[in-house]
Amino acid sequence: IRPVFRICHICGKEFGSQSLPIHEPKCLEKWQIENDKLPKHLRRPPPVQPQALPGGSLGTMAENAAAAQSYKLLPCEHCGRTFLPDRLAVHQRSCKPKATKLFPVQIPP
Ligand SMILES: [Zn+2]
Ligand SMILES: [Zn+2]
Repeated sequence: IRPVFRICHICGKEFGSQSLPIHEPKCLEKWQIENDKLPKHLRRPPPVQPQALPGGSLGTMAENAAAAQSYKLLPCEHCGRTFLPDRLAVHQRSCKPKATKLFPVQIPP
């Protein structure tokens, strides 16, 4: 039997249909902690659970598509890679514009 994968509407990762219900409450909890750490302009309302559709694979596919759209990736202004808003904040701490490597770093007084 091919395992059915479901996309978590909070983090966008794939989980087996059995493990997603276990993962989701923990993921939302984690999401809220991370969201609280973000600067105000990056904070988002909690992801909304996509409406469950009755039926088989079509329902799962539609749910997965809805889940994939419920989170938005943001591009890094320095390197152009896309990240979830919380990941972007973490990434930008270490990602600097390439130009800074070509010039002496100016340390503010
Ligand atoms: Zn998740
Ligand atoms: Zn970057």
